[in-house]
Amino acid sequence: MYKIMVTGGAGFIGSALVRYLIAKTPHKVANLDKLTYAGNLDSLSNAQLSSRYQFYRADICDAAALDRAFADFQPTVVMHLAAESHVDRSIDGPAEFITTNMVGTYVLLEAARRYWGSLDPARKELFRFHHVSTDEVYGDLEESDELFTESTPYAPSSPYSASKASSDHLVRAWHRTYGLPILLTNCSNNYGPYHFPEKLIPHIILNALAGKPLPVYGDGRQVRDWLYVEDHARALVEVVTRGKVGETYNIGGHNEKRNLEVVETICVLLDELQPRADGRSYKEQITFVKDRPGHDRRYAIDASKIERELGWKPQETFESGIRKTVQWYLDNRDWWERVLNGSYRLARLGDKA
Ligand code: NAD
Repeated sequence: MYKIMVTGGAGFIGSALVRYLIAKTPHKVANLDKLTYAGNLDSLSNAQLSSRYQFYRADICDAAALDRAFADFQPTVVMHLAAESHVDRSIDGPAEFITTNMVGTYVLLEAARRYWGSLDPARKELFRFHHVSTDEVYGDLEESDELFTESTPYAPSSPYSASKASSDHLVRAWHRTYGLPILLTNCSNNYGPYHFPEKLIPHIILNALAGKPLPVYGDGRQVRDWLYVEDHARALVEVVTRGKVGETYNIGGHNEKRNLEVVETICVLLDELQPRADGRSYKEQITFVKDRPGHDRRYAIDASKIERELGWKPQETFESGIRKTVQWYLDNRDWWERVLNGSYRLARLGDKA
């Protein structure tokens, strides 16, 4: 039984990880989260009821709060997911991304190093700092380029991906310089239940249902490699429990899709599952909008290392995962209505400091 400290456990991927850890493993979980706009305790409703779950409301930039949480929870491992994660927001206001993703990761690494240095040899040996990162650090690919591997040189394009790339470098430096036992994962685009409505897939589903335009950037030919979020959560647990210290693992779903194809697939599923009142297709709501500056054309991940070394494989295809996702949004109106009207933030009032 591990004691796992998850940073950012109220976010999209963090909450999938916490739900997975509570439902499918015997481990204890501490969720350390600042609860920015992206943190939603509604996403943890059942997991929060477990005696194996506890919550620390803290900012990863606050060294004293981190020291208190480490001393109180005494984690076996840390899984670091807390971040600012939305590319469009990073273009409009990069400062938060530099603060949380770079400075916050530095402050967390130092807190982890202090804690790790204080452990007895047996617990020191077990300790891991697992940094969760993105494939966007590798930049973008031409149609004919090879997939991203763990040795692809970094070439981030946006303030978001540059801040994540910087945090990856810090994590590797803390291993090389101080010997901190780290693991790093770089994952492709995630989708699935509890995804914040500003991101492409939920945004399209909810706009479609509201009869609003379905915005597609540029020509819609940008390619993303999609992974169902629960497959990512499983991969992260494999890496933190069985991965080799100091190593990086790419995680991806072998599901390269053009953005326009994704939007059209959602329309076709909604046409079947919740047809428009006028009987016409949701595709009629698709609208092309001005492209995002510096928009990467293609990401695609080679996940053969984690498949070969840890035996992980995605369980969902894009077709099965997107159907589940669309159905989830149809069945969980309460969750997203509370996000859209802002009342999800009220769930924070009763939390522990
Ligand atoms: P998210 O934006 O949904 O959630 C981020 C969480 O971090 C929120 O709960 C937020 O409250 C918390 N947080 C933000 N700043 C904090 C701070 N200063 N201190 C403590 N908590 C803070 O993000 P996500 O999509 O779940 O992504 C999680 C991680 O996975 C990120 O590091 C991201 O870079 C990485 N990642 C995301 C994707 C993707 O497709 N979403 C793909 C690969 C990697």
